[in-house]
Amino acid sequence: MQSDNLSSIQTSLRVIPRDQHNVSRKEISPNALRVLYRLRDSGFGAYLVGGAVRDILVGGHPKDFDVATDATPEQVKGLFRNCRLIGRRFRLAHVVYGREIIEVATFRANIDDGSGDRETDTGGRLVRDNVYGSIEDDAVRRDFTANALYYAVEDFSVRDYVGGFEDVQNRLMRLIGDPVTRYREDPVRMLRAVRLAAKLDFEIEAATAAPIPQLAPLLAEAAPARLFEECLKLFLSGHAVQSFLGLERYGLLGALLPESAKALKSNRSGALRRMLLEGLKGTDTRVANDEPVSPAFLFALLLWPAYCRELMSLQAQGTHTVEAQRRAADRVTLHQLSMIALPRRFSLPMQEIWLLQSRFQQRQRKRVMRLLSHPRFRAAFDFLCLRTAASEEHMADVEFWFEAQQHPDAIAHQEANQHSDDGEEGGDERAPRKRRRRRRGAPVAEG
Ligand code: ATP
Ligand code: MG
Repeated sequence: MQSDNLSSIQTSLRVIPRDQHNVSRKEISPNALRVLYRLRDSGFGAYLVGGAVRDILVGGHPKDFDVATDATPEQVKGLFRNCRLIGRRFRLAHVVYGREIIEVATFRANIDDGSGDRETDTGGRLVRDNVYGSIEDDAVRRDFTANALYYAVEDFSVRDYVGGFEDVQNRLMRLIGDPVTRYREDPVRMLRAVRLAAKLDFEIEAATAAPIPQLAPLLAEAAPARLFEECLKLFLSGHAVQSFLGLERYGLLGALLPESAKALKSNRSGALRRMLLEGLKGTDTRVANDEPVSPAFLFALLLWPAYCRELMSLQAQGTHTVEAQRRAADRVTLHQLSMIALPRRFSLPMQEIWLLQSRFQQRQRKRVMRLLSHPRFRAAFDFLCLRTAASEEHMADVEFWFEAQQHPDAIAHQEANQHSDDGEEGGDERAPRKRRRRRRGAPVAEG
């Protein structure tokens, strides 16, 4: 017996012949084609499936190619010397060509046959599924109709069991089956809906979108490591602005980044939101230009509203500025980590980017030189530039540090003379004690 939800889904096969679709072998990696042909020549069904078919249909150029087949993983392994089997819960074959890996999955069913191979926990969340099935089973256990299209190498047709072809033509993300049940099985599908709609410039179909705001809190049950991965895909794939707007629109932002969402809400001027969007726009531009993007900078940006809010509240309670900065950084990180598993190699530089912000107001020669040679200077300076998008207030700092990078010695001398004793607090532990002046309650400006 199949799971109630999936077994109730009617499938009807529509075959779209080669002359009625644009999936061309030119768009498919030669290695993926090699795998498809070898499977077919050995008498197995072999299909390109999932994101690659969907992306080619909308004119995109997929980077990875997934293959679905009726051959078992062991049979796949028998056909390819360069194949290794991975996964315990569900075995997959990876056929390895240098740096390219073609993932070959045996048709999978979501079967509840009493064997315990498919289990849901009390909330309806899927915890195990481990049974092979037919191509129809495989289609209906996928998330969106657009992701359940099969390109058959035997006749170059596209096979559609759930109406995905039409949905792609109409640019719609539509869940297969009952949306509430499918989100309860796997809440990350809510993020996938937003992310794929942003990436493909699709709308989320009405019934698929409707339950999201109410079910958004279920995200708290998702595995933190998976949410981290999903965040990287949401924000570092070149569609960060659209993804962010989608998260806001469907009430997912408060579930994913609760502290920042609260801070954005209470920031009446909208300056923090402007800064965030400006930063995400910059990220998208970098991705489009093939420039590197860093998770540390991304999370510094996403959690900056939360950091500012926490900092202001600590300072309002009378915590000394330097101490407040450190504590705010720690608290925000700790809070957010319980939900999204941001590895330390990213959370530490993220905190550094925050803590360096207050040091941009310090103009004494020694401190200028020290900050210029800080390993995180460049990221922190870029961050400072973004803050000017939210408020003009930091313009003078940006100008000073821009010059300082061009002519470090000249600027440092000149400024050192002008501000011979304006040592401002700013988290510089190495500065001599007597030069420190106490400045209580001075808030870090919004943005
Ligand atoms: P992209 O690669 O652009 O992120 P994708 O759709 O290829 O998008 P993957 O995570 O690579 O996403 O997943 C490959 C395929 O596996 C999907 O197209 C879909 O058919 C299926 N799939 C992925 N995640 C889920 C899920 N949470 N529930 C059901 N099916 C899923
Ligand atoms: Mg993919």
